[in-house]
Amino acid sequence: MDKIYWGADAGLAAYHRSRFEEFLTAGPEAFEKACRDENGRLKHIVSAEHFSLDLLKTIRDTTNAARRISKMDPDFLKGLLRHKSVLNYFPQPSTRTFLSFSRAESKLGIQREEVRDLKTSSTAKGESDLDALRTQSSFYEGMVVRHPSDLYGHFTVWAMQNSRRPLHIFNAGSGTKEHPTQAILDHYTMEESLGTLDGKTIAFYGDCLRSRVIHSGARLLALHKDVTIYFVAPDSLQIDTETEEYITRRGVTVRKINTGIGELPAFVDVNYMTRLQDEYGAGSQSEKYPADLVFTKDHLRMMSETSILMHPMPKREEIEPCLDYIDDKRIMLWRAQRNGMWTRAGTMAYVFGVDEQIRDKYASLETRITKMMKQRK
Ligand code: ASP
Repeated sequence: MDKIYWGADAGLAAYHRSRFEEFLTAGPEAFEKACRDENGRLKHIVSAEHFSLDLLKTIRDTTNAARRISKMDPDFLKGLLRHKSVLNYFPQPSTRTFLSFSRAESKLGIQREEVRDLKTSSTAKGESDLDALRTQSSFYEGMVVRHPSDLYGHFTVWAMQNSRRPLHIFNAGSGTKEHPTQAILDHYTMEESLGTLDGKTIAFYGDCLRSRVIHSGARLLALHKDVTIYFVAPDSLQIDTETEEYITRRGVTVRKINTGIGELPAFVDVNYMTRLQDEYGAGSQSEKYPADLVFTKDHLRMMSETSILMHPMPKREEIEPCLDYIDDKRIMLWRAQRNGMWTRAGTMAYVFGVDEQIRDKYASLETRITKMMKQRK
């Protein structure tokens, strides 16, 4: 099975793999059910397909409340989840996602540890990914996982089903398929800039085929009404049929363009760049990023005052370097990263069940401040 290590013994590996395959054949509804608790609340954040607009609003309101409380009463946030612990399990490289999860955990007072280098873990002794996961889960209440396998989200949920541990899973990127918390932060960033996303037009440029950010992001956009998505890529990197069918079924108008960025920035609301995901191809950086997909200062000039430019990062040659030196509020590359830390705090607060407390606390602080202001007048 794709990039999952089932252990050194072929017979045992085949046995476990066939059990997992059985779980997969149950289909998406059974999978979603396995990600919810008995009250229907999401207990694992593993797929963008499990979100609703209501849930995104809950996370956004919690995020905004936590952000403001952190300026007025940071100790309140720090006291919320002091009794919880999380393992950040990142065998695949990461900077932003790893650090922003780690900072989000720290803001909420969660105790945190990490495993990043498998050379220092028992995987180096031939322990299977299944046993490694179950072992790690014994010590924590949550695990943030990033892995090169497309199926790792499914794999972790399946593995936890066989255990009695009440553990929450946060998918921090699984292969080319899913990056749900990146999708949440992008959705948040778009809404903060544009207001409602109903009726908006988004252009994804670059590696539409292998970008998990695009795959999860497009699924969240499909929750909105009258959305148009342009996938701008050479034919060899065009959007996969699975994503195209999923979002088309939900009412998104899909346009596939293979002639470069051209005049698109003049009329789309969001310009979203992605790098070539060449770690999933022949080898690192062996592919050439198409010249007609480089976002230049001319493209920036074309953009309307209300539209934005985004990139999940890391970036390489997708954006003309002079844009790094232009102070323009439509360039959301850096602000989005900070949003990532706060939306991850909002998401974790929701999953660990302290989101309402955060929103209530902010409401009471706000009432107190308004009262004080009135008294001063
Ligand atoms: N940071 C994003 C990801 O993990 C985008 C990228 O790596 O290109 O998918």
